[in-house]
Amino acid sequence: MQHERKMIIGGNWKCNGTLQSVKDLVNNVLNQAEYDSNKVEVIVAPISIHLSTVKALANDNIKVMAQNVSATGNGAYTGEVSAEQAVDFGLEWVLIGHSERRNVYGETDAQVGTKVARAQANGLNAIVCIGEHLEQRESGETNNVLKTQLDAIKGSVQDWSKIVIAYEPVWAIGTGKTATPAIADETHAYVRSWLSENVSAEVAQATRIQYGGSVNAKTAPELIQQQNIDGFLVGGASLKPEFKDIISTMNTYPEASA
Ligand code: PEP
Repeated sequence: MQHERKMIIGGNWKCNGTLQSVKDLVNNVLNQAEYDSNKVEVIVAPISIHLSTVKALANDNIKVMAQNVSATGNGAYTGEVSAEQAVDFGLEWVLIGHSERRNVYGETDAQVGTKVARAQANGLNAIVCIGEHLEQRESGETNNVLKTQLDAIKGSVQDWSKIVIAYEPVWAIGTGKTATPAIADETHAYVRSWLSENVSAEVAQATRIQYGGSVNAKTAPELIQQQNIDGFLVGGASLKPEFKDIISTMNTYPEASA
């Protein structure tokens, strides 16, 4: 029973694309990907005003995800989209705590925790991103940083089956520097040990942990063979034709099963 978790691959399209380029991406790349939907879950996150277009065009196996969710509810919160509104729109997934939200927009661990609580209260699945900066890795602080980020969401989660952790080292995001399979697997193993100690052995075994950081069609095949890697969160390469090859790579994991 090495690997009974269902693979999960996300495409984070960030603040990219026009309406037309996104339609082309769905028709020419996403809908052309070949994979077994019993073994692999595919989710993409366009900007919010492209969500309905992508939802309408993408084939039924593909889920769409908001790139963010508000820490507050409905009301006088200009510029925000609440978890309630995401559900009302028909979304099942939200992305929380991406490093660009944390580093460019100053989102704190506490805000990430609140967003996770709001997603949980509204029954949304969330991909929660964690990851260390280069200096933190170089000074041996990686596990402490991840612990702090995980501790910040612990009290917000009642249903861990609705949480996917994306380990995304900040030094690997958009830099072309992918973590080696060994580094990624070892770090995922730490996240799993945190889950085991702080939640339960069952949750540690069942929770999916994605790797993100410059994944491409060349690096994906070796990464996905690692025992603790259950899929990817892909940024830059998810906007390119190679995204369908990365998705197909998910099928190659020998023991991937629903
Ligand atoms: C991301 O945005 O989550 C990401 C991992 O980006 P990239 O693949 O471009 O490094």
